Amino acid sequence: MRFRRLPWDAERVFVSSTAGDWLILRHDELEQVIAGTLDPNTPLGADLQARHLIAADPSRTTLAPLLSQVRSRKQCLQHGPSLHIFVVSLRCHHSCAYCQVSRAESTQTAFDLSDANAALAVERLFEWPSPTLTVEFQGGEPLLHFEQVRAITERIQQRNRHEGRNMRFVLASTLHDLNDDQLAFFREHSFQLSTSLDGPEWLHNANRPRPGRDSYARTVAGIERARSALGEDSVSALTTLTQRSLGAPREIVDEYRRLGFHSIFLRPLSPYGFARKTGPRIGYALAHFFEFYREALEQILAVNRSGYALEEAYASLILSQLLTPFSHGYVDLRSPTGAGLGAVVYDYDGQAYPSDEARMLAAMGDRTFALGHVAQSVREWLAAPAMQRVLDAGVAEALPGCADCAFVPLCGADPIDHYARQGDTCGHRPSSDFCRKQLGFFDLLLERMEHANAQDRAVLESWALPQRRDAPPQTEVA
Ligand code: SF4
Repeated sequence: MRFRRLPWDAERVFVSSTAGDWLILRHDELEQVIAGTLDPNTPLGADLQARHLIAADPSRTTLAPLLSQVRSRKQCLQHGPSLHIFVVSLRCHHSCAYCQVSRAESTQTAFDLSDANAALAVERLFEWPSPTLTVEFQGGEPLLHFEQVRAITERIQQRNRHEGRNMRFVLASTLHDLNDDQLAFFREHSFQLSTSLDGPEWLHNANRPRPGRDSYARTVAGIERARSALGEDSVSALTTLTQRSLGAPREIVDEYRRLGFHSIFLRPLSPYGFARKTGPRIGYALAHFFEFYREALEQILAVNRSGYALEEAYASLILSQLLTPFSHGYVDLRSPTGAGLGAVVYDYDGQAYPSDEARMLAAMGDRTFALGHVAQSVREWLAAPAMQRVLDAGVAEALPGCADCAFVPLCGADPIDHYARQGDTCGHRPSSDFCRKQLGFFDLLLERMEHANAQDRAVLESWALPQRRDAPPQTEVA
């Protein structure tokens, strides 16, 4: 049993089991549990036993139910990486200050994935054992090298005739300049499209400069074209939040509602790519982010009360951890880490990485996490020092700080993020922004659930259910 004092109520504690069952107790009740004086026949004693937080009679207790729950939570480990990111080009029209990718000018075709490397990457894809493979095309702007998207997809589909995997295709794009030929191709192969929308026009255009200052109009036109060709649910969107965005929580939420989205993903900035260089100008403290987030969440709940279903995607991930026994599989929030175990990236130059963040670090000159080249086998990648380094610090339950944390069964290890922020894959949790963010989300959502009326509580609970939740976009759109 691990515990954490509630920041909003000093008299009570959050306690959790190894498998992630939890309960909120009064402090004096926890002291009775620890002293062994709590009567197991009281309602509280029965509740604690049902959640595997205590075993009243060790001679009649088995660990089997607890182990079975741990197995359910870690189910995403069973088949290896299912998310495969193909970076078909670094080229992009935009020059966003927070870009996480080292983009290239839109005419620099030297930054395109070659045919030979694309063919090898498809060979590697099928070396992984997962029965379900999600192939996400990314950039830069992947539509600037659409012919390679087409060639890879067709090669995969052809190979899959005898492989028999469940294939899912995603394109992370600005959706600018989508044409009918591309849309017909996406319809034929049931693509899901993922785009970036930072909020209302003034904000989106300020965050995402491009020649003509028309990024917002082009994105909205792309969303509309995609929806009419592929269906209303074919496009998901996520925001990147700059300092400027933090002043507009309600406007951002209202924009998503106005454009007919049922999911919004409010993401703080990451310390990669151009965001690292421009951080002092466009970045902010996490405390400021959470002020923004609280207000945005209230607006989202108000939208739901008006009868329109809208979820916040990161809250849904945290709530699914808190309220269900299942694994959500989101690669940034897993223990063992999702880097290389849940996702693999095939970069434009044929290099492979265990995560998008590892690729971004390499683009900044730090190749610590490069697994190898697509000409090598997956077996060689897994034996690479880079993978060893990721795995050494990849289990949250074994990390200093996390090992004692009550949220650890529900949290994740992110060794590459800690390396990027703190220069060390294990990281130092008390000063880690990743940890502060996680603690902030757990505390905020537990408190909000506790203070919610029946209607708001039902909304928050519904976000936790997998069948209702759209998978949030996993990666950045340039
Ligand atoms: S990252 Fe922080 S919140 Fe998550 S398990 Fe580790 S110490 Fe707890």
